[in-house]
Amino acid sequence: MPRALVAGNWKMNGTRAGARALVQEILQGLEETSAEVAVCPPFVFLADVERLVQGTAVALGAQNLSEHESGAHTGEVAGPMLRELGCAYVIVGHSERRTLYGETDEWVARKFAAARRAGLSPILCVGEQLEERERGITEEVVGRQLDAVIELEGIAALADAVIAYEPVWAIGTGKTATPEQAQEVHAFIREGLRGHDATVASNIRILYGGSVKGENAGELFAQRDIDGGLIGGASLKSDEFLSIVRAAQ
Ligand code: PEP
Repeated sequence: MPRALVAGNWKMNGTRAGARALVQEILQGLEETSAEVAVCPPFVFLADVERLVQGTAVALGAQNLSEHESGAHTGEVAGPMLRELGCAYVIVGHSERRTLYGETDEWVARKFAAARRAGLSPILCVGEQLEERERGITEEVVGRQLDAVIELEGIAALADAVIAYEPVWAIGTGKTATPEQAQEVHAFIREGLRGHDATVASNIRILYGGSVKGENAGELFAQRDIDGGLIGGASLKSDEFLSIVRAAQ
């Protein structure tokens, strides 16, 4: 069974002082846990947070990266820069990037490839819109998002990656997928991967994301194919985040 991972996606929130305070609170409250913990602050706070998590049990991640390594790409941030700052993880294909910034499945796949080239573990987000769930095409959508990466990079590339299933209708809405709904899609993802490579399928961590809180985390993480969570809003409150981490043991 893969080691659970709980990753906090801070999105575009907070201040420099607030980011430092939040990570300090997390470090102070973190008990011995079998789960891995990561925080993904905005780019501009990465260096500050890195100084605080260095040598601790908390890993650092970024929320996005460029598909390119360097050059004339004003405003972009490259994988090697994130690696140099101490990031171990980078989120790719978050639904906010897909819907608000037009990232396509193929573009996300190229970002996934760029993350790996830089030595970062991509946290690949997949998930359906509400209308797609209602039309009964959740598996088709999630399958297509995964296939874009497998086609570009091959199944072996997923060996050191993480998948986050995040139904778009559950992100930041307070509406969580039921544990059964989430498990159904997680099992679909794992089975799909098993068709390519049984070892990758068994070892890969498939996180659930979408309005996870301290009070619903335990039930979600108890599902067979849920290996932790990608946490948005609740990762901005240290108490709430720590109670989610406790639920992942
Ligand atoms: C997210 O942004 O990845 C997320 C899951 O957000 P929230 O927990 O706020 O729904």
